[in-house]
Formats: sequence, structure tokens, C-alpha cells
Amino acid sequence: MSKVVIAGGGLAGLACAKRLLDAGFEVELVEATARFGGRATSWIDPADGFEVESGIHSFFGIYSRLSALLREVGVSRDRMLQWQDEVAYLQPGPRYHVFGINAVRAPHRVLAGVLGNNTYVGPRDKLGVGRAIAHGLRRRRAYVYETVRGLAHETGVSRIAYELVLRPLARSLFFLEPEELVAYAPLTLARHILASPASIRAGTFKGGMGEVMIAPLVRWLEDHGATLRTGAAVRVLRYVEGNPGRVIGFEVKGGEVVRGDAYVSALPVEVVQTLLPPSWGELDYFANLQQIETVPAISVQLWFDTCLVDRETFIFPAGSPMAVLQDQSFEAFTTRGSRISCQVVDRATDGYTDEQYIALVRRELQRYFPLSALAVLRKAVVVRHRAFAMRIGAEMRRPPPASPIPGFFLAGDYTRQDWFTTMEGAVRSGEMAAAGVLTALGPPPA
Ligand SMILES: Cc1cc2nc3c(=O)[nH]c(=O)nc-3n(C[C@H](O)[C@H](O)[C@H](O)COP(=O)(O)OP(=O)(O)OC[C@H]3O[C@@H](n4cnc5c(N)ncnc54)[C@H](O)[C@@H]3O)c2cc1C
Repeated sequence: MSKVVIAGGGLAGLACAKRLLDAGFEVELVEATARFGGRATSWIDPADGFEVESGIHSFFGIYSRLSALLREVGVSRDRMLQWQDEVAYLQPGPRYHVFGINAVRAPHRVLAGVLGNNTYVGPRDKLGVGRAIAHGLRRRRAYVYETVRGLAHETGVSRIAYELVLRPLARSLFFLEPEELVAYAPLTLARHILASPASIRAGTFKGGMGEVMIAPLVRWLEDHGATLRTGAAVRVLRYVEGNPGRVIGFEVKGGEVVRGDAYVSALPVEVVQTLLPPSWGELDYFANLQQIETVPAISVQLWFDTCLVDRETFIFPAGSPMAVLQDQSFEAFTTRGSRISCQVVDRATDGYTDEQYIALVRRELQRYFPLSALAVLRKAVVVRHRAFAMRIGAEMRRPPPASPIPGFFLAGDYTRQDWFTTMEGAVRSGEMAAAGVLTALGPPPA
């Protein structure tokens, strides 16, 4: 039986493993940390029993490949998620401005959102955003060379709509400011959304992602013969020079070399960049890969003794470095008081220590929810990841799954698929890498 070695146990690596097992390959997956799921997971803090997550995650109804993968391992999406047909923008007070997002299932809420909320953004501001999206969608490919700011400027989006609608969206979906984000990326997501209007829903997890999404997937893979190893960080990519050369193993922590007939890196881009042999830099594929930039993807999670938020929807605090927040005490991690998970995006905070991030979020929460000044903080954590930066030029550098080195493939949300930094993008990248392996090696003998 042909054996494939996968490095990285996030959704890309796990999806790749699933598809390779389906095709009859032997699979060994090596993961650096003590758990699977990478940037989309949760775990119990052994110090105090609190459940921590990698960051606030929305499971969009339009995620077809991730949904199929979960269905195949026995996870019912509808049981795993609490569907939300609305999102809320927030101003200090707290004052919520609710926008319905599903015109098929909840048309009245969409209408109320569009016609109402005029104290937040007026009718002309809303029209301006709609016009920019329609214009951008018609010329989507041209916007691979233009930022969201450029598109907004060109189409006359008002300053208010730019700051109160577009900036929170750019920050929360891509970890970037609209001045940095290439317009092609959100336009492509908008295209996916408009293609499946009935599926425009934002799912919040009922339970921790590690427990309700990753654990069943891992269990299925193990039950079907995959070898999944934790605490096995790849330190060196063993290869033989040549034209073009070839990979002969992944050397993991402790010196063991894990060998197979093909190799898939499902590692974060900033990790794979450190493992590539310098001589491969002569190939455009790897030279481009080395130039992919990343930005911090910071999650700050706070537990208070008092209930501060009255809903579990995704909330975009306008004008705050807190790009998006959710109170997860209702369904995700049922608890008394508030369990706030938020994503901080502001280039000025990129070098912050954990203490600075926590102090910043506490200050911001007091601005939006003044009552939080009186609440007792029971615990606070900062979880740090990175995300690839969809700036101008990034799209051309993103690698397709098959590298020029025979038998060496790449998966991960940064690779070339049009769902970008999302769980859906990660799953699709893993599936594309598996398809590449199958094409290269052929179906394994039964
Ligand atoms: C704060 C935050 C919020 C997000 N919100 C959303 C959201 O709302 N909706 C959405 O769809 N997506 C969201 N995402 C994006 C989504 O989580 C990612 O796109 C997706 O999980 C990436 O999966 P991946 O497998 O490509 O990478 P990863 O999940 O990063 O997996 C890579 C794996 O490789 C492992 N690894 C690293 N180094 C080594 C090594 N040397 N050897 C072996 N293994 C190694 C890592 O530990 C990790 O398990 C969010 C991400 C973050 C950080």
C-alpha cells in the first residue's frame, strides 16, 4: 500500500488524511502540539478547567466541503451549530444595530436591517456599499490589484460606511485593515455568498470546536487506520538534491525520520517557509511562497462573573480594535456570567504583550458595556496565531497544491483556493492536495 506522510493536524491536514484514506492510502500524520485542529479548535486549561478556544469562529452555511466532510464522519451540522440569521454592529451604550443576513429564511429581518439602522448608517451610506459591491463583482478579477480602500474610493463609499461597515468586516474576516486588504478577496467571498442565498447563515458552535468538530473527525480517521501523532513537530525536511530533487522524509522532534511515498505539508505558511531547503528558492513556486506575508491573528478571551451581553450573535464593535466579539456563555461554553471571545485587529497593537492586549480589551469593553467596569474578571487568556495577508500581490504568490518537487504537496488555507483564511478554505486545500497525490501516485493497489 502507498503511504503518505502529512505534516500538520489542522483542518487542511485532517481533510487531506480523510480523502487519502478514502482512496485507499496508508496515512501517517504528524502534529507538533498536543492536540489536533490547529487554528480551529478548543481545549481545557489544565490549570483551572476553563475551556479555551483558538479564537472566535463562524461556520458559514455556504461551507459545502467542510459540511460534507463532517457529514461523512457522522457529525450533523445542524446539531453542532446554532444558526444565526443576523449579525449586530455595536456602539457604546451598548447600542445594537441588527442586520438580517438571510433574505430567503428571514426576509423581514433583512428588510428591517436595510431600511432601519439609519442612526448607524444612513440610506445613502448603505446604497454606497451596495453599489461598491455590485461594481466590484462585475470587475472582480481587476480588483486583484486594488485594495478595499481603492474600490471604496472609486465607487464613492461614504466615510461613515467605510469606517462603520467595511473596516469591521475587513478586520474580522481577513485580519487586515481595508487599506491593506486586496478587494478581490472579499469580492470573491461575496460571490460565493450570492451564489447560495438560502445558505447565508452564520453558525456558532454548540460546545467547543475541539469537542464537537475536531474530535469526531480524528476518531473517524483513527478508526479507519490513520496513524495520527501529536507532539511530533517536523524539524527538518529531509531531501536529496538533484534536478529537481526529492523529499525523503520529515524529521520530527527527537530525530526520527518519518518516511512515505509522498509528503504533504499542511503546516502554517510561516512554518513551512522555515523548512524549505534554500536551493529550492531558485524555483519560482518556492520563491513566491517565501514572499507570502502573515499578520497576527489575536484572540482575547475573558470570563466575567456578570452577564454583559444579551445575545450570542456575532457582534462588530464599530471603531474598536476589537474586530468582532461573541459572548459564548449561552450555547458554546454554557456558564454563568459572560464568556467573551474577541478578535483584536489593529496594526498599532501588533507588538503587544498579553497583558497589554487584555488591558486594551477591558478598556474597550468598558466603553461599549459600561457595566463591565463593575464585573469581576475570573480569567483572561490571549491565544496567538498568524494568518496569511491578502495584500496586493499575495494572490499570485499563493501556491497550487502540487509543487515542482515530485511527491511533495502543499495544503493549508494560504494555498491557492478561493475561500482564503477560512475553515472551508483549509478543507478544500487539503482535499486538493489529496487529489494531487492520487494523480501523482495513482490509486494504491487494493
Ligand atoms: C482567531 C481566528 C479566528 C478565525 N475565525 C474564523 C471564522 O470565523 N471562520 C472561518 O471559517 N475561519 C476562521 N479562521 C480561520 C481558520 O481557523 C483557518 O483558516 C483554518 O483553521 C486553517 O487551517 P489549516 O489546517 O490551514 O492551518 P492550521 O489550523 O494552522 O493547522 C496547521 C497545523 O500544523 C501544526 N504545526 C505547526 N508547526 C508544525 C510542525 N513543525 N510540525 C508539525 N505540525 C506543525 C499546527 O500546530 C497546526 O495544528 C480563524 C482563525 C483564527 C486564528
